[in-house]
Amino acid sequence: MGCVTARVLARFCRTRSYPKGSWATAACLVACLVAPAALASECPGHPNALGTSRTLVVDPKEHRRIGAMQYAETLPLADHEVVLTFDDGPLPRYSNQILEILASQCVKATFFTIGRMAQSSPEGVRKLRDAGHTIGTHTQNHPLSMNRMGIERARQEIDQGIASVKAALGDDADKSLAPFFRIPGLLRADNVEDYLAEQGIQVWSTDFLADDWHHISSSRVYELAIRRLEANGKGILLLHDIHARTVAALPRILDALKARGYRIVHVVAASRDLPPTPSESRQWRLHPPPENVAITRWPEIPNLVLAANPELPAPSLSDFDWLDSHPMAKADERSGPLKVRFPQVTEAAIENTAITLPVPAQAVFQIPEGLRRAMSDMELRWHHPEKAGLSAHEARTKSAPARASVPRHPARGKAHLAKQRGRDVRSTAKVVGRASAPAASSRRYQQVKRRNV
Ligand SMILES: [Zn+2]
Repeated sequence: MGCVTARVLARFCRTRSYPKGSWATAACLVACLVAPAALASECPGHPNALGTSRTLVVDPKEHRRIGAMQYAETLPLADHEVVLTFDDGPLPRYSNQILEILASQCVKATFFTIGRMAQSSPEGVRKLRDAGHTIGTHTQNHPLSMNRMGIERARQEIDQGIASVKAALGDDADKSLAPFFRIPGLLRADNVEDYLAEQGIQVWSTDFLADDWHHISSSRVYELAIRRLEANGKGILLLHDIHARTVAALPRILDALKARGYRIVHVVAASRDLPPTPSESRQWRLHPPPENVAITRWPEIPNLVLAANPELPAPSLSDFDWLDSHPMAKADERSGPLKVRFPQVTEAAIENTAITLPVPAQAVFQIPEGLRRAMSDMELRWHHPEKAGLSAHEARTKSAPARASVPRHPARGKAHLAKQRGRDVRSTAKVVGRASAPAASSRRYQQVKRRNV
């Protein structure tokens, strides 16, 4: 009986979203914990499948830009909920394998397809539709310059991409194609986003990446996906269905998600017949503070602040390294630094805020007894050498060891001076070399760090 109840409740929860802490959230959480078998049983032939826990219906006109990497809003996911997205296909050689892997786990995802790829493989787009996945678009030619191209060309890329995918879908294209769009390389621009908003199209960034467009192993893709998901606890994962390494990594990623208690959420667009899943605006906001944490007592930043400055810092181009490995990249489309706009926090948001920092421990200010004595001796030797039992010469020599290299007899003829100058030059070169070592080390660290992102 309890199992049946859990099944019914889990099915009920799959199409709904509730605020944290409410009775409904608690009930849904219990249902999802109690009824994993119910979800698996809905994947015929795959009793241990990960499955798709619920469908989230979103209204693109209400939430125009999502993705924590770049925007102030992201999908209103509960803890341990994951949305899978795949870009740049369809490429039959790999996209078909991705579809088989997802089907074996009854997992639904969102695919951001490229118009040119859809023209080359229209049956690949129809396979996405027939498998029940969500289909969005990703421009016609995947230009990595939308952050600096003219709006007319950007509009062409967007419109042609949509037209190509619609042509591949055929008669029910309007119904099958979601008004979801991802900008190539995540190279956002205000005018591009404004145009998409006018068209009622939602811009998708992402919450985290797995770097699967880099020349890295499938094991590395798996490690990055899981490590970054664990750091977020939930979110949108960006992958590509055009790489062998992603095909190889995906089964391990799905197995790990199931083993670690993550649940897949399928996202679809609201329509006349399909109302959006009920949600509160705070659930869409980036990192909403949990109700049981003291930070919720702090004054909230007014909504108008975020509304006026919705963009978070964009990742740097070096974080993506699209240009050396992406199949659609063109040398003449290499772009410069991204425009970064930081949200401005008004003074009103921080005044009257009672922030209490922890008091430093008394031990922080204590000077060890041995060090205190050494410092006292040093001061005595410098200022009162006679009291310290030293001659003035000894005091200067001991206190300033660098002077020891100065010759005691500065005038011994030209030959000696020339020799001494040569030594000084070599000595200076050595010092310069040493001084630049930390800078060189820092550069090497930055290079290694950049390669590791
Ligand atoms: Zn792409």
